[in-house]
Amino acid sequence: MSDAPLVEQLSDVTLESTPDQKLPTGPVRPPRVLAVANQKGGVGKTTTAINLGTALAAIGERVLIVDLDPQGNASTGLGIDRRNRNCSTYDVLIGEAPLREAVVPTAVPRLHIASSTMDLSGLELELGTTAGRAFRLRDAIAALNHNVSPDADYTYVLIDCPPSLNLLTVNAMAASDAILVPLQCEFFALEGLSQLLQTVEQVRSTLNPNLSIHGIVLTMFDSRNNLSNQVVADVRQFMGSKVYNTMIPRNVRISEAPSYGKPVLVYDLKCVGSDAYLKLATEVIQRERELRTH
Ligand code: ADP
Ligand code: MG
Repeated sequence: MSDAPLVEQLSDVTLESTPDQKLPTGPVRPPRVLAVANQKGGVGKTTTAINLGTALAAIGERVLIVDLDPQGNASTGLGIDRRNRNCSTYDVLIGEAPLREAVVPTAVPRLHIASSTMDLSGLELELGTTAGRAFRLRDAIAALNHNVSPDADYTYVLIDCPPSLNLLTVNAMAASDAILVPLQCEFFALEGLSQLLQTVEQVRSTLNPNLSIHGIVLTMFDSRNNLSNQVVADVRQFMGSKVYNTMIPRNVRISEAPSYGKPVLVYDLKCVGSDAYLKLATEVIQRERELRTH
């Protein structure tokens, strides 16, 4: 199935919640929901979800990472054993469990994750043409902060998307306030970005009118590499202020950390990679403030 038609197929459904969703009443502060998305693999989505999530938690936010990639790299990178994934994002999206049930704590205070398993790769086929299948995640997140004590609600949800523009990514986009796009500083960086932006536009006009682009983060930047510098110049020219000032450098500590089941901020707080993700978190918060005051 090609990607653009998928959003079109989904656009015939209404923006209403699925009818069997009964939300308890009471004052609820919804979390800010950001999808970390790019249909290219290996560009730094999972690394960004893990480390931005850790940095946000470090500055006091209560963060839930939703692993929406069947590969489960965010779950593994945060040290979640496969045996602790009895309830996963698959169970949530198939409608068999509330999102809270799939949540496990990580070693980082205030950072939790809803893990994924390979089952997720079959979801698209299993859901078939079920009405409202694009809103499974949105509805699950809508119930997340209901009936919880004031200090147990989440202030941020970061969704780690799979490397494709499939139903999982569409669910993420339909559920999000904004998209955060990691872009690797390599020759083909801009290729694919227009397709991603087009999908965001389609989702905005059909499934989620509030969706915006939070920002583009340049990853694996190598200042000694002329090509890296050229890519940065091109992307900044093409996307202007949508590109965060902070760039994530290519840093071996960042790539080592997941094999220890740790975010780089825990593995080596002093390395340039950790420093960059802390700066990115500050910039994300800054943009959030600006969005709120406008
Ligand atoms: P994606 O989720 O987009 O597929 P990942 O975050 O898994 O991408 O990153 C792909 C690979 O690149 C991983 O092995 C990761 O450890 C490594 N990587 C990501 N960011 C950096 C970086 N800034 N410096 C060095 N290696 C990185
Ligand atoms: Mg990934």
